[in-house]
Formats: sequence, C-alpha cells, structure tokens
Amino acid sequence: MSAIVMDCKTLAGKILDNAKATVKKYSTPPTLGIVQVGNNPASSTYVRGKIKDCEYCGIQHVLISIPEDSTADEIKNALFTISNDSNVNGVILQLPLPDHIDKYTLRNLIDIIPQAKDVDCLGSINKGLLDDGYQFNNPCTPAGIIDILDYYNIDVSGKNVVIIGRSNVVGRPLASMLLNKDATVTVCHSKTINLKEITSRADIIIAAVGKAKFVTTDMVKHGATVIDVGINRDENNHLCGDVDFDNVKEVASYITSVPGGIGLLTRAELIKNVSIQGYIFSGMEVEDMNL
Ligand code: NAP
Repeated sequence: MSAIVMDCKTLAGKILDNAKATVKKYSTPPTLGIVQVGNNPASSTYVRGKIKDCEYCGIQHVLISIPEDSTADEIKNALFTISNDSNVNGVILQLPLPDHIDKYTLRNLIDIIPQAKDVDCLGSINKGLLDDGYQFNNPCTPAGIIDILDYYNIDVSGKNVVIIGRSNVVGRPLASMLLNKDATVTVCHSKTINLKEITSRADIIIAAVGKAKFVTTDMVKHGATVIDVGINRDENNHLCGDVDFDNVKEVASYITSVPGGIGLLTRAELIKNVSIQGYIFSGMEVEDMNL
C-alpha cells in the first residue's frame, strides 16, 4: 500500500492564518528585518517568499541587501543597523553566505542578532536554550518537522528516529527537539559507517543531506515515516528531495514530498516566530498567547 503523503500545504496555511490572526491583535504590526548578502538566485527566491508571507499576515518588513563581495565588517554593520532599529521585532541573516565567509565568522555574525530578535533561533543563546528545552519559539525547519509529525499524531516518544545530516540549521537543533520529546535519536553524516543498516531500523527517517534521491527503498523499514528536507535538482533539472519519493512511498507509511513539503512549513514557522515577537514587544504574557 502506498504511503500517505503528508499535507504540509494545509498545515502551513493554518500556521500562516494563525499568525495573521495574532498580528491583528496588535496596535502596531510586527516587522521582520532581513539581511541578504549577494544575489544567490535560490536565496532571492526564499527572500521573496518570506516577504510575500509577511504581506499575507500583515507583518511589515525591512530588507537590507548588500553585495556578494561584502566583507565580514560590512555584513556586521548591516546586522547592527537592522538589529538596533526599534521598529524591527525579528531579524534574520539569509543563508547561505558567500564562500569567503568561514563558519567561525558566520557564528559571530549570527550572534550579533540580539536573542530577543533571533527569529531563526540560530544564535548561541537560543541554541543553548533549545538544548535545555526552554524555548517557546524554535528554529524554523525543525519546528516544521515536529509540527507535521504532531499534525498526523505521530508520537515520537520512545521511537527510533534517524536524522541524516548534522547541520546547524536542521540536523543538530532537530535532534535536540526530538530528544526533548523523548525520541531515541541517531544523527548520521558523511562519515557514518553502515548508514543503510542504521536507517533500516528507524521508525522515522529525516533526510537533510542535499543529495537528490539519496534515500532509497532498501534503506527504509516497511511502514516507516519518511520526512524529506532536501531541496535538489534531478537529472532533468526538476526540483526533488533527498528521498527517492516514487519508490520509497511504496514502503513507507507516511512521507513528505518535494516540492510541497517541509519547505512550506519552514516558511510558515518563520512567520509564526515573528508574530510571537509582537507579543513580546507589546508586553503581553507568554501565557496569553494561546499558540
Ligand atoms: P548541509 O549543511 O548541506 O549538510 C549536509 C549534511 O549531510 C552534512 O551533515 C553531511 O555530513 C551530510 N551528508 C552528506 N553526504 C552524506 C552521505 N553520503 N551520507 C550521510 N550523510 C551525508 O545541510 P543542510 O543545510 O541541513 O541542508 C540539507 C538539505 O536540506 C539541502 O538540500 C538544503 O537545501 C535543504 N534544506 C531545506 C530546507 C527546507 O526548508 N526544506 C531548510 C534547510 C535546508 P558532514 O557533516 O559529515 O559533511
């Protein structure tokens, strides 16, 4: 029997509609600040999508675009400018940055964003809070994954969850969030030995590798849930995920598609986080948020 294709579009729509209803409660709408470095076409598409979602929900935005060859100091200045703007409630640095910015510099740049405005939740303080399970807004892609599992009542407690990929934006924060929900989590990466043996035992596989159709049927236990985070191009230049969708859906019980999957939820979760910022800035109590 073919897997249920998880309806991320409907859930993303509900999250956006909730955010829109939340924003209507404020006397002043929240504002998202975006710093974009360079003109990477994929990043530009994502930024346009974020602005469109803001407009749908009544959230304002400020975009600072600086050239591809900007120095770390120039990026720092843009982040300081947008972070110090008292009208801006949430700030993001659009990733990836150009190759001349190494990962240590990137960490310092992300940490310029004040914790209270860090709506991507990638700053060091928010990462620490996330590990401890104290956070009330969460990094966008992992939050989308947790929400779609909840939406289908897939309880992760005690389950064997295998994440393929250990990035700072997906694999690592997701592992923390799943651990906090009592899953048994294995995080795999390019040095993992016997990957297939590990994934074949998983109740839930989450693929964040960045390689087209990397997860094949022989890696998936019958009846497993398969979440596809990857965004790739196949041999015909069509958008596809990390999972060999057409074949894996014949062995999985639940599966997400690409396009139409986790990407939509990632977008919606950002807007949800920005809408929550409005509560903080208007001095309302977290308990009043009814999220
Ligand atoms: P990333 O930084 O590109 O890292 C990829 C991860 O995959 C690394 O941990 C790497 O291992 C691992 N990997 C690579 N080859 C492997 C192999 N042969 N076996 C096992 N693991 C392997 O990851 P990312 O930023 O999380 O992105 C992953 C994918 O998700 C990309 O396609 C990206 O575009 C997509 N993405 C989508 C969304 C969304 O909203 N849908 C959000 C974020 C990212 P090492 O650490 O050892 O190098």
